[in-house]
Amino acid sequence: MGDVIVLGAGAAGLAVAAQLKARGVDCEVLERGPGVATSWRGRYDRLHLHTVRRLSGLPDFPIPREYGRWVRRDDLVRYLEAYAERFEIDVRTGTTVQRIKPGADRWSMQLDDGSERSARTVVVATGYLHTPVVPPWPGLPTWTGTLMHSAQYRNAEPFRGKDVLVVGPGNSGAEIATDLAEGGAASVSLAIRTPPHIVRRATAGWPAQLNGLLLGGLPERAFNTMAAGMARMEIPDLRPYGIDRPAEGLKTRLRTQRYVPVQDVGIVRDVRSRRVRPVGAVQSFTATSVLLADGTSVRPDAVIAATGYATGLRDLFEDASLFDETGVPRAHGGAAARPGLYFMGYDVTLGGMLRQVAIESRLVARAIGNARP
Ligand SMILES: Cc1cc2nc3c(=O)[nH]c(=O)nc-3n(C[C@H](O)[C@H](O)[C@H](O)COP(=O)(O)OP(=O)(O)OC[C@H]3O[C@@H](n4cnc5c(N)ncnc54)[C@H](O)[C@@H]3O)c2cc1C
Repeated sequence: MGDVIVLGAGAAGLAVAAQLKARGVDCEVLERGPGVATSWRGRYDRLHLHTVRRLSGLPDFPIPREYGRWVRRDDLVRYLEAYAERFEIDVRTGTTVQRIKPGADRWSMQLDDGSERSARTVVVATGYLHTPVVPPWPGLPTWTGTLMHSAQYRNAEPFRGKDVLVVGPGNSGAEIATDLAEGGAASVSLAIRTPPHIVRRATAGWPAQLNGLLLGGLPERAFNTMAAGMARMEIPDLRPYGIDRPAEGLKTRLRTQRYVPVQDVGIVRDVRSRRVRPVGAVQSFTATSVLLADGTSVRPDAVIAATGYATGLRDLFEDASLFDETGVPRAHGGAAARPGLYFMGYDVTLGGMLRQVAIESRLVARAIGNARP
């Protein structure tokens, strides 16, 4: 009969648990995975943070300096484990919350083992990138090649000597395409529906994340113009290789689609050297080929769908009015969605999600502290 229950022992859940503790509020964290940082443990091998170490740590316990500027996946996991230990956070692993229902003055939670829990206050921190989404492409059920979502991709080993189509030029798609090209795939195509915004991870030591933070307050049009100008200076023209310049400004896409730009960790080089071949958007599948929007088709051995995620929150709650049409909570990050119900980790910003959850953890903990009788 905990007073506060947090769902998810990722960065957001751990940070808010530590902040609550600092305010003298005990809480229990329920985590479906076998340990903290389950999402990060499952990400691909070559992954380093795209955000700088100093701006990616959680409150009151920075990421150790020896992890370097661009923190490796495994070091981030080590950091989150150390964070949970440092603040003695009570994490109950192997516990999936399946449903959350409002009661008279408590929230009741149905767990996967059939038991129930209840709490006066619930913080949902189950991750913005929760449920891998593969579009329902026509013909997909007939496809006989390999299909995996980027969330399942680990490294290029299984694709050595294979023709691979990566779908979606976001950060994961671009980096996986590079990984495959370096890792011995016979050919790598990258299907592009909307041309991406591409930025250099850092220019003369100055990280793109800082530009986002310092200039993010500019009016949309001014920001869009500035970002387009910087992209023209920093990123070679990829139109001769099949990647158009984006039609819509960066800040406009951030506002309308929660879009963040692609950080170049090799894709520009690989497209220019034709190790990665941009192709049109995926239209449909047959048993052995993939038809593209430009009328051509490709016959890859494997398709990796870097096609994004859904929050999965509608499966947890009956009350659909809690969420917008994309499944993101209407109230999150410090504002209670309902009395005793908070969501955090759903604000996509140019400053990075880890930095954002660090900020939100203080806001949510303060709101919970203030709401206590
Ligand atoms: C490839 C990739 C690279 C990224 N790189 C960066 C970066 O460089 N910088 C940055 O700031 N951000 C980055 N991000 C964004 C990243 O998702 C966030 O920074 C961070 O993981 C968000 O933490 P979170 O706690 O909100 O979500 P998560 O880390 O996803 O944690 C959610 C936790 O909730 C658990 N859970 C889910 N559902 C349930 C349930 N029903 N019951 C119990 N437990 C549940 C999960 O197992 C998980 O442990 C990246 C994301 C991806 C996919």
